[in-house]
Amino acid sequence: MSRTVLVTGGNRGIGLAIAQAFAKQGDRVAITHRGSGAPDGIFGVRCDVTDSESVDAAFAAVEAEFGPVEVLVANAGITDDTLLLRMSEEQFTRVLDTNLTGAYRCAKRASSKMLRAKWGRMIFISSVVGLSGGPGQVNYAASKAGLVGVARSITRELGTRNITANVVAPGFIETDMTANLSDDRKAEILSSIPAGRMASPEEVAAVVTWLAGDSAGYISGAVIPVDGGMGMGH
Ligand code: NDP
Repeated sequence: MSRTVLVTGGNRGIGLAIAQAFAKQGDRVAITHRGSGAPDGIFGVRCDVTDSESVDAAFAAVEAEFGPVEVLVANAGITDDTLLLRMSEEQFTRVLDTNLTGAYRCAKRASSKMLRAKWGRMIFISSVVGLSGGPGQVNYAASKAGLVGVARSITRELGTRNITANVVAPGFIETDMTANLSDDRKAEILSSIPAGRMASPEEVAAVVTWLAGDSAGYISGAVIPVDGGMGMGH
């Protein structure tokens, strides 16, 4: 059965791979972008997840095109790494506002229609760092850990309505976000990954499409790692 899917930040990186994976299986896919436009063949809406009016307008545009969002993938995210001593409050709150509050804004907007339909899937793209922490990532790790609380609370609130909320926690994935790391830092991270390699965005997308499907209907409040064994035990 095909579904209406919205992937925030689906214009590039992991979000784009997720959008393409849903499109390939025949779903109606919309992505958000912040001005870059949508990739060929995918319906795009402009949206800044730090602005609830923008989120509302994006959902309204998707609803007008495809009907209510049945699968929400809250993927949009940023980093702004620096050590705690140097981290300004603005750097902390900006990352939280995008990664955590942004996901809350989208989940809240999606929830009323999912409740009415008595079916829904919410998938939050977190990070291995959310549970393990990372040097220079107090803001980012806090935002990604927060998504676990969001998904588990939604699971308790909406679980009886056929709505699931899960977290996917990628490790080290080849995208723009990791392209800027120095070679030394990359080598250091690679040495901590049992799989000994980075993953492709498609390897994250495969888990997301599976979580959104009917066969995963009894999985909720879970944190699924896609990290080559990097975070084992968390
Ligand atoms: P990219 O930097 O390649 O893409 C980030 C996406 O988020 C872009 O589409 C960007 O839009 C969007 N975005 C950023 N801020 C906002 C905003 N305020 N409103 C709407 N959209 C926004 O990142 P990745 O593809 O690597 O990461 C995707 C998700 O996966 C993120 O949440 C990230 O934290 C997480 N992740 C990534 C890992 C990695 O190794 N790459 C590892 C673990 C987790 P725009 O193009 O307009 O900037």
